[in-house]
Amino acid sequence: MEPQPKVCYLCAEPVAAGELDDEHVFPENLFNPGDRADLIKLPAHRACNASYSKDDEYFRLCMTTAAGDEPKAKTLWNGPVLRGVHRPQSAKYKAYIHRSLREVEVSTEAGIHLGKAHVMDQDAARIQRVVQRMARGLHTHLTGDILPRDWPVSCDLLDPRTRTDPGWSLFCTGVRTIGNGTVCFAVKRLDEDPRDALYWIVFYDSIDFWAFTGTKIQGAIDAALAKIQERA
Ligand SMILES: [Zn+2]
Repeated sequence: MEPQPKVCYLCAEPVAAGELDDEHVFPENLFNPGDRADLIKLPAHRACNASYSKDDEYFRLCMTTAAGDEPKAKTLWNGPVLRGVHRPQSAKYKAYIHRSLREVEVSTEAGIHLGKAHVMDQDAARIQRVVQRMARGLHTHLTGDILPRDWPVSCDLLDPRTRTDPGWSLFCTGVRTIGNGTVCFAVKRLDEDPRDALYWIVFYDSIDFWAFTGTKIQGAIDAALAKIQERA
């Protein structure tokens, strides 16, 4: 289903033609050029869209750093991510990144010392803002409906080991991939209100997030998990 035309999915207000922008639900910069054929776009205000551009750059830096040797992330990290940090006009951004880096001693699991490495203290609020916007966009993309501006949306990093949890298959059926696997997502919607939903979103097959739209879905999931545990 197509979303209602010319309503901004970010602020739920009408968009005049001169203010209209096509906004990527998953920012284009997360994808290598050869992986951009099936990106999801929605109408948004130019200003609403632009308000995320710095967060999007930060998000890509964090995700490609955290994804380590995953090939798609590594290609981005070695190309546009590093170039972005070293642009002369991004001196302020560079200083910000440097402040959030801290040096740590690295050892293997067996305790072999590998020397020093930089670890980023990632700014959780900025990352959450980006993932919450993605959940909002997925809702509009999948239902054609736009969430009210004040509709609660929350998200958190998810331990990838959760994928082997026995309750997992209940929630995450019909996994869809975008950009040749750059991003995967699955949805579980509450029958009573389609605006209440759980989204599972994975970047570079490495970094997993939960996102919740609405507040009732979490209770429904807890109840379902409790039932599974009773049976076990
Ligand atoms: Zn807007």
